[in-house]
Amino acid sequence: MKRNFLKASLAGVALAIVGFSPLASAQEKGLIAISMPTKSSARWIADGANMVKYFKDKGYKTDLQYAEDDIPNQLAQIENMVTKGSKVLVIAAIDGTTLSDVLQKAADKGVKVIAYDRLIKGSKNVDYYATFDNFQVGVLQAQSIEAALGLKSGKGPFNIELFGGSPDDNNAFFFYNGAMSVLDPYIKSGKLVVRSKQMGMDKVGTLRWDGAVAQARMDNLLSAFYTKDRVDAVLSPYDGLSIGILSSLKGVGYGSASQPMPIVSGQDAEIPSVKSILRKEQTSTVFKDTRELAKVTVSMVDAMLSGKTPEVNDTKTYNNGIKVVPSYLLKPVSVDASNWKQVLVDSGYYKESQIK
Ligand code: BGC
Repeated sequence: MKRNFLKASLAGVALAIVGFSPLASAQEKGLIAISMPTKSSARWIADGANMVKYFKDKGYKTDLQYAEDDIPNQLAQIENMVTKGSKVLVIAAIDGTTLSDVLQKAADKGVKVIAYDRLIKGSKNVDYYATFDNFQVGVLQAQSIEAALGLKSGKGPFNIELFGGSPDDNNAFFFYNGAMSVLDPYIKSGKLVVRSKQMGMDKVGTLRWDGAVAQARMDNLLSAFYTKDRVDAVLSPYDGLSIGILSSLKGVGYGSASQPMPIVSGQDAEIPSVKSILRKEQTSTVFKDTRELAKVTVSMVDAMLSGKTPEVNDTKTYNNGIKVVPSYLLKPVSVDASNWKQVLVDSGYYKESQIK
């Protein structure tokens, strides 16, 4: 009896200390797991680092893992995160359809899930989705092609080839559909000609967003369809693919005064591509401020864990096959030689010395 009393009082004292210690909130707020797809692209490194920082500022601990684009690796990492007692999983999936089993295990333990940037499909256990307006990303890519070719003022016909992102990433379809919403009318009217006739994500997708795969496909397109004719524009959904496409083009002599580079789009404003834009090789990219995405995600997690409802601004668009996942969509920004400084440097995202 006495011993129990002593135990209870000690527990009370311990609780009181915890309650008043400034360190207590960090411990009480718990562990947040962050599962990122790969370090091979700078954006995911920035995403991870930004989240770790903002979670820490709010008093959370983090467990950040990268899966190097290997699906079993990501599954094992997430299982481990659940075992370690994470309260929330923030996941940018490699393949958005492969996580149902592990997410069920997480849900059984009361772990919440946020799909980060890429939608997680085929699972009811996805609480929220934080991303950019992915359709608009594609619209911006295509509008930069439209403007550079002068399509609106009736110029043409021009030859174009189309590239899509990874078919296991739901975003890739949104990018492609957004771009085609702008390009399709010109293709139908004959102002844009896809000589290869390769259209649709089943024909133009690039598994795992691999630049080498895009380069090889561009090599094939050039040798099969462009020995006599010139390619005037290439829709590329991601800077890493644009780099592969550009080196293929250089390989057959594009990029000289007599054979200028075609218009080439991109996404993510990665440093090598911004440099390429300044060298007048790549035409444009799309900037998605990963600091903002990290902030939105951290607020969502903090709201959920404080018993509040996270703020969302879209409850219609992202149906994952089982449910519409409430989403917060941020605005992407088109970047080219005219505004890179203002968008990327003045905002503090990059230092000018990183680019010039
Ligand atoms: C992201 C893009 C990125 C691509 C390749 C997509 O899911 O939204 O920002 O370019 O993956 O990493």
